[in-house]
Amino acid sequence: MLRGAALRVTRPRVAVLSAVHAHPHADTDLIIRAVRGGLPEVSRQAVYDVLRALTGAGLVRRIEPPGSVARYESRVGDNHHHVVCRSCGLIADVDCAVGEAPCLTASDGHGFSIDEAEVTYWGLCPGCSTAGNA
Ligand SMILES: [Zn+2]
Ligand SMILES: [Zn+2]
Repeated sequence: MLRGAALRVTRPRVAVLSAVHAHPHADTDLIIRAVRGGLPEVSRQAVYDVLRALTGAGLVRRIEPPGSVARYESRVGDNHHHVVCRSCGLIADVDCAVGEAPCLTASDGHGFSIDEAEVTYWGLCPGCSTAGNA
């Protein structure tokens, strides 16, 4: 994947990319912990730099739901949406509502050339709604 994106293959890049694949919607703290499992000497700054490079190259998508820290995922390029639990912050993927990225068609684009639409569904995850009822 790194070579396909014309990025030099380094151990930190491979480790960060693997961590994002293994932990969808992970925040940087979780990614750093996962990376250090294999490369204990990697600095936080190095992980931040790699995440920025991977995001810039389109290998990783950065999402930041309001009220949450930035999270990263390896599922890129399909304009999928997210459902976020208001209580525990759990995030899950939601496919685009109807077929092919219909959300890209704004009712009035105000002359902008629009390339992305972001939809966030909010609610309670099954664990939290059960806890609330108990
Ligand atoms: Zn929850
Ligand atoms: Zn996602």
